Amino acid sequence: MYISWSGWKLYDGCAYAYWHEYVAKTIVDKPDDRLGSIFGSAIGVLFELFYNEEWWRKSQIQTFMVGQVERVLEQTIQEEISYDKKRDRPGGVLLWKGTGEGCNPRGLYETQEDLETDVREAVGRGLKIIRHHRLLGRRAQAEVDLNSKIDGHILGGRADFVILRTRPHYDLCLLDGKGSRHHGLYIDPRQVKWYAMLYRHRFSKSPEKLGYVYWNRQPNTKTFDPEKHIDWVEFSEYELDQLMEQVLTSVREIVEGQDTLPPAEKTPADTLMELASQVFKPKPNENNCRFCRYATATTCLRGFGIVKEMNRRYGRSV
Ligand code: SF4
Repeated sequence: MYISWSGWKLYDGCAYAYWHEYVAKTIVDKPDDRLGSIFGSAIGVLFELFYNEEWWRKSQIQTFMVGQVERVLEQTIQEEISYDKKRDRPGGVLLWKGTGEGCNPRGLYETQEDLETDVREAVGRGLKIIRHHRLLGRRAQAEVDLNSKIDGHILGGRADFVILRTRPHYDLCLLDGKGSRHHGLYIDPRQVKWYAMLYRHRFSKSPEKLGYVYWNRQPNTKTFDPEKHIDWVEFSEYELDQLMEQVLTSVREIVEGQDTLPPAEKTPADTLMELASQVFKPKPNENNCRFCRYATATTCLRGFGIVKEMNRRYGRSV
């Protein structure tokens, strides 16, 4: 079977959510709002091109990159709202900030222009972060394929950036780019360890440094300090071994779990969901359920109850 970081993280958090997402591919009525991820995806593509197309060689690099923002943003939006062939998933929607149909009162941006302005501003910040941390060198690649065949399964992943830094560091860094304004919040340090684990398998050597690079400005900070835009993550070879063991155990459980379920085509949806919830056990709690798309009355009643209660507590409509 194939398992990615996001698949394994979901399984580790709640096996029932994993079953809905990756095994049953359950479609929920509620549209999947992707507005929150567009900024990170667009700025990620711009810096991927910066490395892979060697844009860094250009003299007026900032002006050039800002000139690419509109095109890259448009392309990113199209990808998010179109049918995802690879994952066999319908496209999402963009709920702009506002009230009324097609809007979200808690949305991040009111218009596409606001979003575009944010991405343009992030280009300059990103270039300063790269200069400050010397994220260039003899080896500087983006979107590095790390898919690895282990025990007959494919453990998948792409490292956002693999960079052999210039002086005074001369170290091999593996970095993941983040669009979030809240540095460190909702970040799982195991993500970069997952990539390091695969990198070690592919290249028989671990990266020397792992970290998250934050392209967005931090909330409530007036001055921009590039030093604060990378969070380095400590790790050891032993931790990578442990992670590998955990992942392979999960993979075995998933394969066995799928084998115990009857064929989807011959089983009523309600019965299949019930049986699946006995094998792929739900783990309802606020952390897991608050962002889970299956927290609905028809797909996971217990998760739905938790989210409903949270919304009531914070005065939000479901
Ligand atoms: S709503 Fe909660 S318990 Fe239900 S599938 Fe999602 S994460 Fe799991």
